[in-house]
Amino acid sequence: MPNRQYDDAIRLPDLPAHTSALPADVDRRAFLMRSALVGAVAVINGCSPSNQPQNGTSAAATPPAAPPPLPSVPLSQDLNVVKKAKGPVMTTIDEFYKVGPGPSSSHTIGPMRITYDFYQRCTKLPADQLAKATALKVYLFGSLSATGKGHGTERAALAGIIGKEPATVDPLFLDSLRDKPDQTFTVTLGGKSFPVSLKDVVYDAPKGDFPHPNTMTCKLMAGDQVLLEQEYYSVGGGFIEWKGYQPPKKGQPTYPYSRMADVLEHAKQHKLSIAQIAMANEVAVSGKSEADVHAYIDKVTTAMVNIVKTGLSMPESTLPGPINLKTKAGEVYKRAMDDKFIGQRGVGVVAAYALAGSEENARGHLVVTAPTGGSAGVMPALVYSIGEGGRHLSQEKIREGMLAAAVVGYLCKHNATLAGAEGGCQAEIGVASAMGAAFLAQAHDFEPQVVANAAESSLEHHLGMTCDPVAGYVQIPCIERCSFGAVKAWTGFLIASNEIPANRRVDFDTTVDAMALTAKEMNSKYKETSEGGLAVSLVLC
Ligand code: SF4
Repeated sequence: MPNRQYDDAIRLPDLPAHTSALPADVDRRAFLMRSALVGAVAVINGCSPSNQPQNGTSAAATPPAAPPPLPSVPLSQDLNVVKKAKGPVMTTIDEFYKVGPGPSSSHTIGPMRITYDFYQRCTKLPADQLAKATALKVYLFGSLSATGKGHGTERAALAGIIGKEPATVDPLFLDSLRDKPDQTFTVTLGGKSFPVSLKDVVYDAPKGDFPHPNTMTCKLMAGDQVLLEQEYYSVGGGFIEWKGYQPPKKGQPTYPYSRMADVLEHAKQHKLSIAQIAMANEVAVSGKSEADVHAYIDKVTTAMVNIVKTGLSMPESTLPGPINLKTKAGEVYKRAMDDKFIGQRGVGVVAAYALAGSEENARGHLVVTAPTGGSAGVMPALVYSIGEGGRHLSQEKIREGMLAAAVVGYLCKHNATLAGAEGGCQAEIGVASAMGAAFLAQAHDFEPQVVANAAESSLEHHLGMTCDPVAGYVQIPCIERCSFGAVKAWTGFLIASNEIPANRRVDFDTTVDAMALTAKEMNSKYKETSEGGLAVSLVLC
């Protein structure tokens, strides 16, 4: 089993060796997790709140001053952690990491995937039908109609309907749709060509009896006659469905798990890394080969690297929207590289990489959901910092890291939530940071317990973080928050890889349960409504 021990060369993001003494009290975090969540979380875990020693801590070492536990809170059957904690994780990597235009997985990535899907369906129609085609039309309903203009939903939808693939569309093409909205494009289907423009994307009824708040209809027309029509739903996180949708048939996972404890048990029993467990399950559940899975991961990480590079290379500009927020990734990067203190340079550079990715999202350029559009700066910053932007680890190690990060993301999705609208920002940046910490630990060949501990540490220190985007734009606090998420991922990894793994007092599953409970109890003002926090405190003028 891979088990890289304390290698000085990996203490800082992109920098040469530093030797620092281990703190004398590496287990000082023990017994700090005393909060009002104790009683309720104990219910989830099926055990009573207790000051009893765990993880090998002796009774003699137990501090006497632990506060008494609060009464248990009964769990609602509506709670995600209850609903979803049934059956093993079945998510696959191509469902999880999706590439498309920002700034919103539901309002730009989903719609572009939908229209590209419809374009593909059109290309498969018989030639005699295509010969009659005269127009392609897209109708946006519900939330897509109500808020799509602010997100640029019409541009994403147009790009897909004219055959641009979401994962590879040129960011400059997306800019041109914004800067020159009157452009007309020629679409050729079979032997027939006809013009398509933004006028063919219609903001239809914002309210109505729709099957889903994000409903769209795509039509291929022959004059007034409809040749092909499909109703679609952008169901969140870039996932799409359509009328009559049947989920793809999946195989059973080789190593079924629904909690990190299951993953660690498989790892122990079969002497596998978390990445190896993830790969075995990917192959078994999706029916794809390992080579296919690697090819998909490579596509995703290539997109991440390009996103960071593009973001760093963009000149300072003002982002779209009423905030008039200036971009700064390139400047932060340049100044960080000039820093004479090597440790500060490492932190500054990682922060700049994350700013670059997040600013690309705000520009409406390409992003990868890892796990969401709002958190889109975190994972690319880490991929770049251990790849060509820093450590130059091999693509093989990066793939392994991406698989371990996916396991962390799957577990958060399965047992809590990935949506700011459901759980606040802890569910977006918090999960991205936890995935990032696991990514770093796995890519550096640490043992499974360290990977889990790193994820736990990073997630723990995002618990309770609210979602309050100013003016509804994914800019403040989201862009800088990605930098903090990336740096905290490094912090989580560095703590976990320098402590004794078995001494960690809080396990990953406990923290995910705490996130689920916090999400349930969080005031709805702090769940992507822009009705609380910074969204109301910051006065725009
Ligand atoms: S504040 Fe809200 S919109 Fe912004 S990154 Fe966090 S969860 Fe996403």
